[in-house]
Amino acid sequence: MVSRPPTFCPDCGTRLERTSADDRERKRCPACEAIVWHNPVPCAGVAVVDRSRPDPAVLCVERGVPPGVGEWTIPGGHMETGEEPPAAAARELEEETGVAVDPADLEILSASAMPPRTGKHVVTVHYVADRADATGEPVAGSDATDARFWTPAAFDASSETFRPVHEERFREAAQSLE
Ligand SMILES: [Zn+2]
Repeated sequence: MVSRPPTFCPDCGTRLERTSADDRERKRCPACEAIVWHNPVPCAGVAVVDRSRPDPAVLCVERGVPPGVGEWTIPGGHMETGEEPPAAAARELEEETGVAVDPADLEILSASAMPPRTGKHVVTVHYVADRADATGEPVAGSDATDARFWTPAAFDASSETFRPVHEERFREAAQSLE
């Protein structure tokens, strides 16, 4: 399995040929006589919501690495092989913001296919957690240039932009945990 549309066989390096299977276009290695599957990559993220103020605020990070440098997102990233989705979400949160949550305190917000970037498709499981269950103050960590709590109103009044789909999750998260 590869995360971007393949040109060469990952096992033997032979140029792949087009074929079709399951009514979809596939790539096949003529030497290995096998299809090289192109599947979405599983990711996990968590929106930490601070409900201790009148307008709930959600912890977000500003991307510091391509693609989408400068866009705001819900903290998250790739799941490791063998890792449970909530553990992946909690790990990515701590790496990117320094804020820690117990994976057992996460609730599922949504699971969705994200718009592909440079041919890479990901499916993200987004969780939500209560700020009261989290520890640490936000500090931008790996892959992030800023980490802070935004209310939807403050974000709307700013000139900042969200990564597609993440903005929907941000607004849903602000309404969650009621
Ligand atoms: Zn091959």
